[in-house]
Amino acid sequence: MSIELYNNNGHVNISFPDLVKDVASVQSNQFLIVNDGHAALIDPGGELTYNGLYMAVSNYVKIKDLDYVLASHQDPDIVASINRWLSATNCKLVCPEIWDRFIPHFTRPGKMDGRLISVPDQGANIPIGKSIIKAIPAHFMHSEGNFHFYDPLSKILFSGDMGANINSGDLDTPFSDISEALPFITGFHERYMNSNRVCRYWANMIRTLDVEWMVPQHGRSFKGKKVIGQFLSWIEQLECGTDLMTQKDYRVI
Ligand code: FE
Repeated sequence: MSIELYNNNGHVNISFPDLVKDVASVQSNQFLIVNDGHAALIDPGGELTYNGLYMAVSNYVKIKDLDYVLASHQDPDIVASINRWLSATNCKLVCPEIWDRFIPHFTRPGKMDGRLISVPDQGANIPIGKSIIKAIPAHFMHSEGNFHFYDPLSKILFSGDMGANINSGDLDTPFSDISEALPFITGFHERYMNSNRVCRYWANMIRTLDVEWMVPQHGRSFKGKKVIGQFLSWIEQLECGTDLMTQKDYRVI
């Protein structure tokens, strides 16, 4: 299944939500952005998704001409297939600067030469065709070096693990009210997000962007200003990560 999130004037955003067929592994969404024949994959995943994604992407662009693989962070469900994409296409890898010496461990020696674009902590505007994709800071949510990707044409925020929800129902149906999402997001964010402090900074930053649709890497999306505003109000007051840790969590058993 592919979900067309946006399609206007040669600019397309596609989500691929069902490429992970292994029931023991977490469902994940992969994304393709196309502008004027140029293309970027966001968080293509690992071996579990490579073949399906390769086939799916070839329906939209000539695979050899893929411009970028954008990696929000360093995890296996994000970018473990990078060796395959570097072999099959002429793409460059865009990744957080603090992980640019770790991600090459997914590849063979020399494979990354001349094909790595490191994004410094403050973020970057990545040119694609006649437009850009904004890499915006999302450090410590959950990874120490982490970016979300914002598409100014579609006004879609690809929010990585922020908003992630598992086993929450029909992947093609966005949440329209936060109450529908709370049972599926609370435990995850309490454990995977690092602290309330960074969540507040992130929410303040997101409010400066014109976001119509927030699409996480796992589960259903959040569509419309109302539910996105509710999500920001919820996350900025959530105690999570180190806020919830006590000495009881650090005992030898
Ligand atoms: Fe991760």
